[in-house]
Amino acid sequence: MRLSILGPPGSGKSTQAEILSHVLGLRHIYMGELLRQEAERDSPISARICYYLSRGELVPEDVVLAVLERQIAEAGDNYILDGVPRTMAQMLGLEIILSERGESLDAVISLEIGTEEIIRRLLARGRPDDRPDLIARRVRIFHQETDPVIRLYDERGILIRIPADGPPESIADDILRHLRERLSSKAA
Ligand code: AMP
Repeated sequence: MRLSILGPPGSGKSTQAEILSHVLGLRHIYMGELLRQEAERDSPISARICYYLSRGELVPEDVVLAVLERQIAEAGDNYILDGVPRTMAQMLGLEIILSERGESLDAVISLEIGTEEIIRRLLARGRPDDRPDLIARRVRIFHQETDPVIRLYDERGILIRIPADGPPESIADDILRHLRERLSSKAA
Protein backbone atom coordinates (compact mmCIF):
# COMPACT_ATOMS: atom_id res chain seq x y z
CA MET A 1 0.00 0.00 0.00
CA ARG A 2 1.32 3.44 -0.97
CA LEU A 3 0.12 6.30 1.22
CA SER A 4 0.96 9.90 1.97
CA ILE A 5 -0.01 11.86 5.08
CA LEU A 6 -0.16 15.65 4.98
CA GLY A 7 -1.07 18.29 7.55
CA PRO A 8 0.21 21.52 9.08
CA PRO A 9 3.05 21.42 11.60
CA GLY A 10 1.70 20.08 14.92
CA SER A 11 -1.16 18.15 13.30
CA GLY A 12 0.33 14.87 14.56
CA LYS A 13 1.37 13.60 11.09
CA SER A 14 4.39 11.71 12.33
CA THR A 15 2.60 10.17 15.31
CA GLN A 16 -0.11 8.90 12.95
CA ALA A 17 2.39 7.79 10.30
CA GLU A 18 4.26 5.85 12.98
CA ILE A 19 1.06 4.09 14.16
CA LEU A 20 -0.05 3.30 10.58
CA SER A 21 3.40 2.02 9.64
CA HIS A 22 3.23 -0.48 12.54
CA VAL A 23 -0.38 -1.56 12.01
CA LEU A 24 -0.14 -1.86 8.22
CA GLY A 25 3.52 -2.92 7.90
CA LEU A 26 4.61 0.15 5.95
CA ARG A 27 7.98 1.88 5.78
CA HIS A 28 7.69 5.30 7.40
CA ILE A 29 9.33 7.79 5.02
CA TYR A 30 9.52 10.86 7.25
CA MET A 31 10.94 13.65 5.13
CA GLY A 32 11.48 16.16 7.97
CA GLU A 33 13.49 13.60 9.94
CA LEU A 34 15.47 12.42 6.89
CA LEU A 35 16.38 16.05 6.19
CA ARG A 36 17.38 16.67 9.82
CA GLN A 37 19.61 13.56 9.69
CA GLU A 38 21.15 14.69 6.40
CA ALA A 39 21.77 18.16 7.89
CA GLU A 40 23.81 16.62 10.69
CA ARG A 41 26.11 14.69 8.33
CA ASP A 42 29.29 16.17 7.02
CA SER A 43 28.01 16.12 3.43
CA PRO A 44 28.24 18.73 0.66
CA ILE A 45 24.52 19.55 1.00
CA SER A 46 24.24 19.50 4.80
CA ALA A 47 24.96 23.22 5.22
CA ARG A 48 22.37 24.02 2.57
CA ILE A 49 19.70 21.90 4.32
CA CYS A 50 20.59 23.41 7.73
CA TYR A 51 19.99 26.88 6.36
CA TYR A 52 16.36 26.12 5.41
CA LEU A 53 15.52 24.00 8.49
CA SER A 54 16.73 26.69 10.87
CA ARG A 55 14.56 29.28 9.11
CA GLY A 56 11.44 27.08 9.06
CA GLU A 57 11.42 27.23 5.26
CA LEU A 58 11.02 24.42 2.75
CA VAL A 59 14.19 22.66 1.65
CA PRO A 60 14.72 23.01 -2.15
CA GLU A 61 12.89 20.57 -4.42
CA ASP A 62 15.99 18.92 -5.91
CA VAL A 63 17.21 17.82 -2.48
CA VAL A 64 13.77 16.58 -1.38
CA LEU A 65 13.14 14.65 -4.61
CA ALA A 66 16.59 13.02 -4.52
CA VAL A 67 15.95 11.78 -0.96
CA LEU A 68 12.42 10.69 -1.91
CA GLU A 69 13.46 8.72 -4.98
CA ARG A 70 16.08 6.78 -3.02
CA GLN A 71 13.62 6.04 -0.20
CA ILE A 72 10.88 4.82 -2.56
CA ALA A 73 13.33 2.58 -4.41
CA GLU A 74 14.36 1.01 -1.08
CA ALA A 75 10.79 0.71 0.24
CA GLY A 76 9.31 -1.10 -2.77
CA ASP A 77 5.52 -1.28 -2.51
CA ASN A 78 4.58 -0.54 1.07
CA TYR A 79 5.23 2.86 2.54
CA ILE A 80 3.71 5.97 4.03
CA LEU A 81 5.17 9.31 2.98
CA ASP A 82 5.16 11.72 5.92
CA GLY A 83 5.12 15.40 4.97
CA VAL A 84 5.63 14.97 1.26
CA PRO A 85 4.59 16.16 -1.36
CA ARG A 86 4.39 19.61 0.21
CA THR A 87 4.40 21.64 -3.01
CA MET A 88 2.98 21.30 -6.53
CA ALA A 89 6.53 20.78 -7.83
CA GLN A 90 7.04 17.90 -5.38
CA MET A 91 3.67 16.43 -6.35
CA LEU A 92 4.75 16.47 -9.98
CA GLY A 93 8.19 15.08 -9.15
CA LEU A 94 6.60 12.28 -7.12
CA GLU A 95 4.28 11.50 -10.00
CA ILE A 96 7.23 11.12 -12.35
CA ILE A 97 9.09 8.87 -9.90
CA LEU A 98 5.97 6.71 -9.47
CA SER A 99 4.93 6.59 -13.11
CA GLU A 100 8.42 5.36 -14.07
CA ARG A 101 7.65 2.44 -11.75
CA GLY A 102 4.09 2.02 -13.13
CA GLU A 103 2.62 3.05 -9.77
CA SER A 104 0.48 5.69 -8.09
CA LEU A 105 -0.57 6.55 -4.52
CA ASP A 106 -3.52 4.58 -3.13
CA ALA A 107 -4.65 7.31 -0.73
CA VAL A 108 -3.57 10.66 0.72
CA ILE A 109 -4.56 11.48 4.31
CA SER A 110 -5.07 15.14 5.22
CA LEU A 111 -5.00 15.92 8.96
CA GLU A 112 -7.07 19.02 9.66
CA ILE A 113 -6.56 21.20 12.73
CA GLY A 114 -6.93 24.86 13.75
CA THR A 115 -4.00 27.24 14.21
CA GLU A 116 -4.55 27.80 17.96
CA GLU A 117 -4.24 24.10 18.70
CA ILE A 118 -1.13 23.91 16.46
CA ILE A 119 0.61 26.65 18.44
CA ARG A 120 -0.33 25.07 21.78
CA ARG A 121 1.03 21.66 20.74
CA LEU A 122 4.24 22.89 19.18
CA LEU A 123 5.21 25.16 22.04
CA ALA A 124 4.83 22.12 24.31
CA ARG A 125 6.98 19.95 21.98
CA GLY A 126 9.88 22.40 21.79
CA ARG A 127 11.95 21.27 18.76
CA PRO A 128 14.51 23.93 17.65
CA ASP A 129 12.16 25.06 14.84
CA ASP A 130 9.16 25.26 17.24
CA ARG A 131 9.68 28.97 18.07
CA PRO A 132 6.55 31.18 17.77
CA ASP A 133 7.93 33.17 14.79
CA LEU A 134 9.00 29.99 12.95
CA ILE A 135 5.71 28.21 13.71
CA ALA A 136 3.79 31.12 12.17
CA ARG A 137 6.03 30.99 9.09
CA ARG A 138 5.68 27.19 8.75
CA VAL A 139 1.87 27.39 9.02
CA ARG A 140 1.77 30.18 6.42
CA ILE A 141 3.99 28.19 4.05
CA PHE A 142 1.78 25.13 4.57
CA HIS A 143 -1.36 26.98 3.47
CA GLN A 144 0.40 28.66 0.59
CA GLU A 145 2.22 25.61 -0.79
CA THR A 146 0.38 22.51 0.44
CA ASP A 147 -3.30 23.54 0.32
CA PRO A 148 -3.26 23.39 -3.52
CA VAL A 149 -1.70 19.90 -3.40
CA ILE A 150 -4.45 18.70 -1.04
CA ARG A 151 -7.13 20.20 -3.29
CA LEU A 152 -5.74 18.39 -6.30
CA TYR A 153 -5.66 15.01 -4.55
CA ASP A 154 -9.25 15.69 -3.49
CA GLU A 155 -10.26 16.32 -7.10
CA ARG A 156 -8.62 13.02 -8.04
CA GLY A 157 -10.75 11.21 -5.45
CA ILE A 158 -7.92 9.78 -3.35
CA LEU A 159 -8.02 12.26 -0.44
CA ILE A 160 -9.18 11.28 3.05
CA ARG A 161 -9.84 14.28 5.33
CA ILE A 162 -9.50 13.56 9.06
CA PRO A 163 -10.17 15.99 11.94
CA ALA A 164 -6.95 15.88 14.00
CA ASP A 165 -7.82 17.48 17.32
CA GLY A 166 -8.72 14.35 19.33
CA PRO A 167 -6.54 11.76 21.09
CA PRO A 168 -4.01 10.01 18.80
CA GLU A 169 -5.59 6.54 19.19
CA SER A 170 -9.04 7.66 18.03
CA ILE A 171 -7.56 9.60 15.12
CA ALA A 172 -5.65 6.47 14.08
CA ASP A 173 -8.87 4.40 14.31
CA ASP A 174 -10.64 6.97 12.18
CA ILE A 175 -7.92 6.82 9.51
CA LEU A 176 -7.86 3.01 9.49
CA ARG A 177 -11.65 2.84 9.13
CA HIS A 178 -11.58 5.24 6.17
CA LEU A 179 -8.70 3.37 4.55
CA ARG A 180 -10.50 0.03 4.85
CA GLU A 181 -13.69 1.49 3.35
CA ARG A 182 -11.76 3.18 0.56
CA LEU A 183 -9.62 0.21 -0.35
CA SER A 184 -12.46 -2.34 -0.17
CA SER A 185 -14.68 -0.20 -2.45
CA LYS A 186 -11.72 0.08 -4.86
CA ALA A 187 -11.26 -3.70 -4.90
CA ALA A 188 -15.00 -4.35 -5.37
P1 AMP B 1 8.32 18.37 9.77
O1 AMP B 1 9.17 17.46 10.59
O2 AMP B 1 7.41 17.68 8.81
O3 AMP B 1 7.62 19.41 10.62
O4 AMP B 1 9.36 19.21 8.85
C1 AMP B 1 10.34 20.02 9.46
C2 AMP B 1 11.04 20.86 8.40
O5 AMP B 1 11.67 20.00 7.44
C3 AMP B 1 10.14 21.77 7.57
O6 AMP B 1 9.88 23.01 8.21
C4 AMP B 1 11.00 21.95 6.32
O7 AMP B 1 12.07 22.86 6.57
C5 AMP B 1 11.62 20.57 6.14
N1 AMP B 1 10.78 19.69 5.30
C6 AMP B 1 10.08 18.60 5.69
N2 AMP B 1 9.42 18.04 4.66
C7 AMP B 1 9.71 18.81 3.58
C8 AMP B 1 9.33 18.77 2.21
N3 AMP B 1 8.50 17.83 1.72
N4 AMP B 1 9.82 19.74 1.39
C9 AMP B 1 10.66 20.69 1.85
N5 AMP B 1 11.04 20.79 3.13
C10 AMP B 1 10.59 19.87 3.99
